[in-house]
Amino acid sequence: MLTVAEAQAIVLRTTRPLPPATAALTPAPLGAVLAEDVVSDLDMPPFDKAMMDGYAVRCADLPDGRGALAVVEEVTAGRTPRHALGPGQATRIMTGAPIPDGSDAVVMVERTRIEGDRVVIEDRPPRAGQNVMPRGREMRSGETVLAAGSELRPQELGLLATVGRTRAVLQPAPRVAVLSTGDEVVEASERPGPGQIRNGNGPMLCAQVARAGGVPHYLGIARDSLESLRPLIAEGLRADVLVLSGGISAGVVDLVPGVLQEADVRPHFHKVEMKPGKPVFFGTRGDTLVFGLPGNPVSALVCFELFVRPALRRLAGHAEPGPSVVRAALAEEFAYRTDRPTYHPAALEEGESGWRVRVVPWHGSPDLRGLTKANAFVIFPPGDHCHRAGQVFEVLRVE
Ligand code: AMP
Ligand code: MG
Repeated sequence: MLTVAEAQAIVLRTTRPLPPATAALTPAPLGAVLAEDVVSDLDMPPFDKAMMDGYAVRCADLPDGRGALAVVEEVTAGRTPRHALGPGQATRIMTGAPIPDGSDAVVMVERTRIEGDRVVIEDRPPRAGQNVMPRGREMRSGETVLAAGSELRPQELGLLATVGRTRAVLQPAPRVAVLSTGDEVVEASERPGPGQIRNGNGPMLCAQVARAGGVPHYLGIARDSLESLRPLIAEGLRADVLVLSGGISAGVVDLVPGVLQEADVRPHFHKVEMKPGKPVFFGTRGDTLVFGLPGNPVSALVCFELFVRPALRRLAGHAEPGPSVVRAALAEEFAYRTDRPTYHPAALEEGESGWRVRVVPWHGSPDLRGLTKANAFVIFPPGDHCHRAGQVFEVLRVE
């Protein structure tokens, strides 16, 4: 059977970034990856700019920091000076305003007082350029300020606006169809009848898609019949990615692999050496990726984080598709017996001496409630072990 690492390698080898497309920058495509180099259309700042409220002066007038200068005008941000400074003159200036020609420093207002139409300055001798940001210090017109491959965080989005961009060539967010399957599964709005359960996986997987930067498209619940599965799978195959839950194990109504095969989905793997989640399926049809996740909610969640999320990040152009695995010391002794590498729900926190991980109570793969106390999965090796406090394990972060 494939290891998790081998299965992840197959997914990533099969997945290429989506073709870039021009997109609007409002609403902000937070987390998207830029697919072009962005060049500034102006110098920033566009003028020599006061960085303090105070007085623009000529350093030559204040060799020892003290003096009385004639105030020739007041310039607020958004206005431009009308007078160049001559000897013995100063301009009252606000933060963000252009300093007048002839001035070479700004003295902060706290070091000054007004006497009639003069400003009396008592400060240390000013340095040329003091409290002034010279034109072009941040960027020059024509300079590349963001490279293709940059992830758009708030600062990049602000910078794009600064250089006049309302649109940019981006890696699109993958469109991900989510389909639950099972005769026993009903929607959250319903009261389950005998033998039925509600569809926890649908909303959970849609939220995982969104958290991974994809756009979820919920297809509802397919019954365990060819007539129900065929049209819904056909619809799902029109997306960039189809994520199914349930119906992929060895039960008599586990019809998903057969319907996928009928729909020309090429299987790449079906079963991975892990717990929970062993029956996980991955296939492709053309450029569409298909993930069949086991029906139990915790299996589905773990398999999504291990296999689907890296694929979505690769489609969206991220250089580091993840998942994020850290090494952490076990907080308390934990006796655990398992026959496959096991992803056990855990609480991970960063302490003074590095990452620490604590196992949370859990009743196995149907137990989604146990995950409300968890933000990670500690990975336990097969065998009958008494793991000691302080022993170091790999931990899958899920946040
Ligand atoms: P399956 O993989 O179809 O054999 O399902 C495994 C287990 O997961 C069964 O107990 C199902 O009832 C349960 N299950 C399947 N689909 C869902 C779902 N959408 N939400 C919650 N539990 C589910
Ligand atoms: Mg089922």
